[in-house]
Amino acid sequence: MDLKALEVARERAIAFLSSLPDRPVRPSATAEELRAALDGPLPETPSDPASVISDLADAADAGLLATPSPRFFGFVIGGGTPAAVAADWLTSAWDQNAGLYTVSPAAAVVEEIAARWLIELLGLPAGTSTGFVSGGTMANFTALATARTHVLATAGVDLERSGLRAAPAIRLVVGAERHPTIDMTLRYLGFGSDEIIAVESDEQGRMRPTALRAVLTDEPTIVCVQAGNINSGAFDPFDEIADVVDGRNVWVHVDGAIGLWAAAVPSMQHLVRGLARADSWSTDAHKLLNVPYDSGLVFTAHPDAHRRAMTTSASYLLTSGNRDPYDFVPELSRRARGFAVYAALRALGRAGVIEMVERMHACARRFAEKLGGQAGIEILNDVVLNQVFVSFRDAARTREIVAAIQNDGTAWMGPSSWRGGDGMRISVSNWQTTFEDVDASVAAILRACSAGA
Ligand SMILES: *Cc1c(COP(=O)(O)O)cnc(C)c1O
Repeated sequence: MDLKALEVARERAIAFLSSLPDRPVRPSATAEELRAALDGPLPETPSDPASVISDLADAADAGLLATPSPRFFGFVIGGGTPAAVAADWLTSAWDQNAGLYTVSPAAAVVEEIAARWLIELLGLPAGTSTGFVSGGTMANFTALATARTHVLATAGVDLERSGLRAAPAIRLVVGAERHPTIDMTLRYLGFGSDEIIAVESDEQGRMRPTALRAVLTDEPTIVCVQAGNINSGAFDPFDEIADVVDGRNVWVHVDGAIGLWAAAVPSMQHLVRGLARADSWSTDAHKLLNVPYDSGLVFTAHPDAHRRAMTTSASYLLTSGNRDPYDFVPELSRRARGFAVYAALRALGRAGVIEMVERMHACARRFAEKLGGQAGIEILNDVVLNQVFVSFRDAARTREIVAAIQNDGTAWMGPSSWRGGDGMRISVSNWQTTFEDVDASVAAILRACSAGA
């Protein structure tokens, strides 16, 4: 077997990763240039695999946004730690189907171990069930499907048998500043936007418990709260929310795609008080944990409902008495994502995760401190985690400045609007970002401001 293509990929991957500290963050090619470099008629005959890979790497390079760069602050994307990326390479080479224990004992056992480590790291209740999914979207989907099953079962309805149309109404309560994937995944689950009740949030984007109390009834209810607001990084007050719903048929889901990792950090416990009193939690390993795409995690405090909502059975699906990963996720066949999560956690250890998340926070605070004092710039949020919301006051000026920063290539941030104003979002989520990266990026922002002003 000729494996030269893999050698080429290894070389090119290492060259790319090594270039990250110095390479411009923005892509340099236009869509036209990329099409010209990559397009052609459908290949009718085979080509040498090693040449295919080196040509692909040559042609794609100029079209890569350096999202794993330590100076990429757009969205919340994160990079990949060496252990996580390397485990992900092996995952492709091993090509295991992680659906069933029987078809990959190693994948199933590694997931089981990584799940146990995560539950301990994040302080979730003993007995919590875990699913390894593609990202926060599917984690929210899985948690909300489980919630739907559970609140209806509590109301005496077997959803899996009788279906949603025969079921009583479920009250759906969300925060005003929820992530759009909450609405999207509720839609996948058969709920329309008119059914969603949005509860008022405070000036940092946190759900107001009194406003939540005002909309609760005796109906089966799902409440979606969040750990890590996409603009402010704020955390909903979990303890007060748990008190408000106590004693009712209410499932509380925490969308922690960004912020669940704060639960691992002793100095951030004030943000997550009461977190473990919720019923389900979702997070992204491909965000703050810096596992490569794609890697999301869903946890529930109700393993039986979780399995009931997700499982399937067929005569050929050989169960073994061991944990079958497909019991906890929407997919049957899938990538063995547990290997990269396991490797990330082993290489970092608890201390490494804490250091990384605290450094992201320290870098975010440094951005706020350095930018906050500048004329024409205002920081609108309390920097509690990794998010900084920067206002340049005027929408047109904001667009110009953000475009100038992206074009400069030193760093990359994106526009957003929050609480009625346009601004720029800085998200620190890369494992390599240092104060030097922040300072170089602040200088680039100030250059863009003076050029545009
Ligand atoms: C990123 C994000 C999601 C969606 O996660 P994907 O990994 O993009 O599917 C959901 N909720 C929040 C708060 C997020 O930041």
